[in-house]
Amino acid sequence: MSEIQTLAPAVENNFYDLTLAQIQNLIAGKGKEKFRAQQIFRWVYEKRISSFTEMSNISRDFSKELEGVFHFKLPKKVSELKSLDGTRKYLFDIGEGNTIETVLIPSGEDRLTLCVSSEVGCNMACKFCFTGKQKLKRRLSTSEIVGQFMHVHDSLQPEGKRISNIVFMGMGEPLDNPESVFASIDILTSEWGINLSKRKITVSTSGLVPLMPLITQAGVRLAVSLNAPNDEVRDHVMPINKKYPLSELLAACKDHCAESGDKVTFEYVLLKGVTDSLKDAKELHQLTRGVPCKINIIPFNEHPGSDFQRPERESVLRFQAELMRLGAHVLLRKTMGRDIYAACGQLTSVYEGRPETFKPAQEDIKSRAQSSLRI
Ligand code: SAH
Ligand code: SF4
Repeated sequence: MSEIQTLAPAVENNFYDLTLAQIQNLIAGKGKEKFRAQQIFRWVYEKRISSFTEMSNISRDFSKELEGVFHFKLPKKVSELKSLDGTRKYLFDIGEGNTIETVLIPSGEDRLTLCVSSEVGCNMACKFCFTGKQKLKRRLSTSEIVGQFMHVHDSLQPEGKRISNIVFMGMGEPLDNPESVFASIDILTSEWGINLSKRKITVSTSGLVPLMPLITQAGVRLAVSLNAPNDEVRDHVMPINKKYPLSELLAACKDHCAESGDKVTFEYVLLKGVTDSLKDAKELHQLTRGVPCKINIIPFNEHPGSDFQRPERESVLRFQAELMRLGAHVLLRKTMGRDIYAACGQLTSVYEGRPETFKPAQEDIKSRAQSSLRI
């Protein structure tokens, strides 16, 4: 396996930024056959060789030429933290003082879900989210998204494990960075490379309605951060709702379901006294009943300076039971990695005020043991 290169590039194109079609075009421009691009893609992503001279089916002359066209650069892995529950959190340095976090969540027998970041910070300013407290610093490049996967993929190889699912639920709003997000999906699902099934990839959005068809077209799963049972509350906790209110958001979800034949996952953060009453549960059911969906309820995860509180376990279970009674397909997302600030809404690249580890209350440890993770 080749060493991941993190040094400054000497030539223009970072291979990890490019889809197979883009590499084919570059190679065609050099007068070479398109299948050469597939061969190289396979060396890089499947065999993890990133030195052209080691690619045995590439002639010496051509490999010299390729060295003048492509370099290989991925973000630098700075640290890896392991939670008591097996969740791992990775910190990457992407240069100029910017860092991103990526989380690997184990569940069931052999499911390993990678939660990737798409931006440093986020401009959507959701009130309950730690990432949202940090304004958008910059959008990630394709190689910075692909790189989160490749680093973790490579580090799991000695253990004989593979990432089975990807969720775009880390830092940032994926539809605020569509070019890199969809190029990275194209690369990671290419049959000449990692060959991950599109059905194993979920893109979560806060509701940038006009761009939601991109998720449908990409053939991946859609998750929507609903987080409120009506416009009044959603306007307050998710400012994006003022631009694209619930009627438009739910219409876009219906379109996705009609076109993909798939269900949408609604994420619903339970905020004590704000979104967690039985009335809220009823309203949420009314709101979503016309959309083929499952509802993923997520008890609020605290972070420094947060204005909200996590509801008691009893209210969480009561809320879930009410939705079930009404006939909704509802799942309680198991809180994972909370002790290392790796749970939903806790990621950031600004460490001021956020310690590296955190001790959940005894009651929450009990509740974690009893709930289940299904993303
Ligand atoms: N920006 C995208 C994806 C990243 S956020 C989006 O908003 O969909 C991933 C999920 O974490 C979202 O569903 C969000 O509602 C949830 N979340 C944010 N802050 C949280 C917090 N403090 N506690 C629990 N969940 C939170
Ligand atoms: Fe951004 Fe998602 Fe956090 Fe909202 S919940 S601030 S969209 S990362």
